[in-house]
Amino acid sequence: MAPDIQAPPARKFALPLTLGFAVLVAAASVPAARALADLIAPAPIATPVAAAPAAPQPAPPPPPAYAFDAPLPGREVASPFGLRQLPWEEGGRLHEGVDIAAPSGTAVKVAADGIVTRTGTDPGYGRFVEVRHKDGFSTLYAHLGRNLGMKKGVYVKRGTPIAVVGDSGRSTGSHLHFEISRKGRPLNPAHFMDRTFASADDLPLKAAARVPRKVRLAHVSRWPEGMKEKVAARRAAKGSASGTQASRGEDGRVRVRIEVAAS
Ligand SMILES: [Zn+2]
Repeated sequence: MAPDIQAPPARKFALPLTLGFAVLVAAASVPAARALADLIAPAPIATPVAAAPAAPQPAPPPPPAYAFDAPLPGREVASPFGLRQLPWEEGGRLHEGVDIAAPSGTAVKVAADGIVTRTGTDPGYGRFVEVRHKDGFSTLYAHLGRNLGMKKGVYVKRGTPIAVVGDSGRSTGSHLHFEISRKGRPLNPAHFMDRTFASADDLPLKAAARVPRKVRLAHVSRWPEGMKEKVAARRAAKGSASGTQASRGEDGRVRVRIEVAAS
């Protein structure tokens, strides 16, 4: 019984399927012939005028007008720019740079392209290197260990190791003291390290020159020899501090006077 039911549908579909194939062949034949002709006949030679211009390449971004690296990449600022009073000092002074802690011997890289203007040893700064950059900028690297062949007049590219971290001068442990100034005015390096600026108008000169009036008491890991005794004697003679006053001198440096009450 089952074979009798299944047979007729096969015959019913035979005709429509054949017709459909014929239509498909007819429809495909015209474009297929054109494609074949294209393969055989060469493409017409384009005249120079008709040539399509090459797709415009996206222009590379212009290099930044100013680029500053961090002298010790990846290391944190341990003591910021601003008014600071060391425990043995009678008044606060402007800390004209940032202190970046790092082990002695770590390579110090120059922050921007420039020319070495000064190197040497100073009682306070210890071994130092100063580099002049374009547009009145200068950077200073202090408390250095070894100087890596830097001397006046040497041209350095941004990122070049110029010295190693040390503990020279009046230092309270192995670190780099790093300053940026422009035309003699100290700027907060935090506004420049690891940053690029497209034009002079983008430089954060105002923000970087600002000095908050608050005096930060510095915590030091190591006191200079004999200093604790000196301070104790001074305090005993003068009494305790009762207030502070900040002022900016003609040289642009901020000084803080601590008023001392007579005991
Ligand atoms: Zn410092």
